[in-house]
Amino acid sequence: MIIVLMGIQGCGKGTQAKLLSKHYSWQHINLGGMFRKAIANKSKIGKEIKHYIDAGKLVADEIVYETIENTLGKKKKGFLFDGFPRTLAQAHYLVENHVVNKVIYLDLDDDTARARMGARRVCSNCNKDYNILSKPPKVEGKCDVCQHDLIRRTDDYLEGINKRIHLFHEQTKPLYDFFKQRDLLFVVDANQEIEVINKQIMEAIDLIEE
Ligand code: AMP
Repeated sequence: MIIVLMGIQGCGKGTQAKLLSKHYSWQHINLGGMFRKAIANKSKIGKEIKHYIDAGKLVADEIVYETIENTLGKKKKGFLFDGFPRTLAQAHYLVENHVVNKVIYLDLDDDTARARMGARRVCSNCNKDYNILSKPPKVEGKCDVCQHDLIRRTDDYLEGINKRIHLFHEQTKPLYDFFKQRDLLFVVDANQEIEVINKQIMEAIDLIEE
């Protein structure tokens, strides 16, 4: 089973992917997170990836496809893509090489997305994510789990946020029609409670016939 979660940054893809992967015991494939890990490991590929991310650009397709294939190569009963595909070329690659069962589109307006991204924080040590508006830590600026400092991702400042919103409309939004034409799209209003969104997504997934 392959499910794709799509939507503008801040729409809650990651939150929903975590809930769904736990519920169905599927592997959550968060490309952005995998890339940040590669950067933290200071590997050769990590250095290359850093150039793209710091410039607010998408990482090159060769790196993306290699990462995807390495992950799909692990035999799991299901995969949840969060942050892939992001371009029409990547969408073509995915449907031509793998069977996609459903694409969940989390629909959110730009202003709300911008506000949510500006409020994101992440633990500098264990990577646990917070939102100072909707999911604040118990002690301001400190991780609840390991007490290390919370930081803002380098691409979560205004310039980076606006660049990514622009990129989303230019490169990722066209995937809406691409998947709709293939009868794979399920649209959810992302401006609802997390639990409500989760329930609507699970109802759609449970209707899939394999
Ligand atoms: P995210 O955490 O999903 O916002 O991703 C962080 C960064 O990783 C993005 O701004 C891109 O530079 C890169 N990235 C994530 N997913 C992809 C993808 N499908 N294709 C290319 N680059 C990606």
